Amino acid sequence: MENVADYKEIVDVIKANGGEAFKLCYQCGLCDVVCPWNRVRQFSMRKIIREATFGMTDIESDNIWLCTTCGICPQQCPRDVKQIESGVSLRRIATEYGVFPTTAKPVRGISASLLGKGNPLNEDREKRADWAEGLSVNTFEEGMAVLYFPGCYLSYDPRLKKVARATAKILNKAGLDYGILGTRENCCGESIRKTGDEELFKRLARENIKTFVDSGVKKILVSSPHCYHTFKNEYPEFMVNFEVVHIAQFLAELIDAGKLDITGDYARKVAYHDPCYLGRHNGIYEEPRTALKPIPGLKLLEMPETRNGSLCCGGGGGRIWMETMKGERFSDIRLEQALSIGAEVLATSCPYCISHFEESRLALKDSDSLEIKDITEIIAEVIS
Ligand code: SF4
Repeated sequence: MENVADYKEIVDVIKANGGEAFKLCYQCGLCDVVCPWNRVRQFSMRKIIREATFGMTDIESDNIWLCTTCGICPQQCPRDVKQIESGVSLRRIATEYGVFPTTAKPVRGISASLLGKGNPLNEDREKRADWAEGLSVNTFEEGMAVLYFPGCYLSYDPRLKKVARATAKILNKAGLDYGILGTRENCCGESIRKTGDEELFKRLARENIKTFVDSGVKKILVSSPHCYHTFKNEYPEFMVNFEVVHIAQFLAELIDAGKLDITGDYARKVAYHDPCYLGRHNGIYEEPRTALKPIPGLKLLEMPETRNGSLCCGGGGGRIWMETMKGERFSDIRLEQALSIGAEVLATSCPYCISHFEESRLALKDSDSLEIKDITEIIAEVIS
């Protein structure tokens, strides 16, 4: 089945989501030059834009599911072609028609899990706060200063629960008046939106907004750049505005204000990886570094591609749920870069990056040669 959607439909959807920006494309190919896919296989955003312009998109192809929405090509584009919005629009059409090529098939199961359980991991809603067992973490009540929103992966994934626990330790030491929603917390919906399931995103967003408003939430502290991005930049589409703070920003503030008592040292060479949705999408580059630099013994290193040139881990745009072939994983390249500059620890501030880096670490000849850490884990180790 070729070209399931007709020309008018594709153009209408793209217009609705990316304006007429796609028409501006020069076909210069700069997007393809910077796209990380072209390190590991052939992929052309230029071609996707070209085909969509003429209604020639084959929505059965894997191609429209490859983009990780890392944001590096819109940064380079001389014509402000909205590649991410246009690509997501094509996925919306595929989702509406129920056309999921092999690469994208897992997304259907994820949608069902999000719909039934509020998380993409098919975990029980009742277990959402289990990560906090034994810690002094209260349920959010009206009047509390901050809602801590760990998100799905920190709530359920065994590796990432350690990040949630490290975060709670820091918040408790800092004496923050905060609480969590526990079983009332839902997936933020950012990544399912990027796979094209707009209806499900809206449903999750409305449910979360209702919970926030009913609970009297004003300020939300998040661990995932994906939660940060959607709460800050996408939820205002629903006429709400919460104060949203990423943990990296919060840690930088605490350290600047001398509110954390750093007593330990961390004698390691640490390379910091900028997550796409914290860095390129939201301009937060300094804060994680500000949080790490004052730690005694810690030597902060910069990798070849850093800050707005950061190499994507491969997990954005819903790719966290899709299989990426061995030999095509950006995270493998990132680990090689970290090792090439002598890093002993690869630190970051995003659950998707950590998941991918941990998988790549296990594939190393010597998997003990590099540790993967969230910045909160490093700080939790050195405070008393
Ligand atoms: Fe078109 Fe922009 Fe890509 Fe150039 S960089 S081919 S103008 S989308």
